[in-house]
Amino acid sequence: DFDARIRFTRKDELGTLADSFNHMAQKLQEIEQMRQDFVSNVSHEIQSPLTSIKGFSKALHEGELPDDTRKRYLQIIHEESERLSRLSENLLRLASLEAKHHPFRPFPYALDEGLRHAVIAAEPLWSAKGLTVELDLRPIILIADSDQLSQVWTNLLGNAIKYTPPGGTISLSLTEAENSVTVSIRDTGIGIPAEDLDKIYERFYKVDKARDRSVGGNGLGLAIVKTIISIHGGEIALESAVGQGSTFSVTLPKP
Ligand code: ADP
Repeated sequence: DFDARIRFTRKDELGTLADSFNHMAQKLQEIEQMRQDFVSNVSHEIQSPLTSIKGFSKALHEGELPDDTRKRYLQIIHEESERLSRLSENLLRLASLEAKHHPFRPFPYALDEGLRHAVIAAEPLWSAKGLTVELDLRPIILIADSDQLSQVWTNLLGNAIKYTPPGGTISLSLTEAENSVTVSIRDTGIGIPAEDLDKIYERFYKVDKARDRSVGGNGLGLAIVKTIISIHGGEIALESAVGQGSTFSVTLPKP
């Protein structure tokens, strides 16, 4: 009886050990898959602007081209270089957020001023497109990292501008609850299909790759947004209808 009990215990322990090894092996496999996907996504994001830069600079170098064609090619080379810069900036930003190099330094932060500042900084972009920006703000002080939150507003507002056709409207509003405040950024843009709603925060995810090329995105903006919000103990939600627009709602805890 005694023997049987010992054997049973050991077997049980071995079983538990085997289970944790299997679990660990599976996790390692998932991490390895993520690493491979990441490398192939980064390579792809580098490759496509480089192909343009190589092609157009070769054409400029070899051919006797009319002035307006030269200008157009130089413009493309400039835009594609900007794309590469944005990619490297965003990769560094994400890596540093994930590695927690910059410790989270929360200070009193005037949320309404932060939002207003982001709208003013983006004015050249939205006014050039003939967009209207409406603000419905009131003074609210949070405890937050102002650099990080300003990145959030820049990315969300930047997307609203990128994905809203000329003449549309972007509205920023604040709603307060007892323990939290919600910032809503609503646009009258192209919207996001229901099947993509929960994937758009993934790194490098783009709803429409062909469309995104023309607006220069790299699919990292919302991954950065989501990481910063979760560092702040907040949440992000999205409602969208194709052809009608999208509303991103960021809820942050109140002090
Ligand atoms: P990107 O740099 O490509 O804009 P993001 O991570 O910021 O990357 O966004 C991921 C994808 O989500 C975008 O490629 C776009 O397809 C979609 N998206 C984000 N914001 C909006 C929006 N306001 N309206 C429509 N689509 C959006």
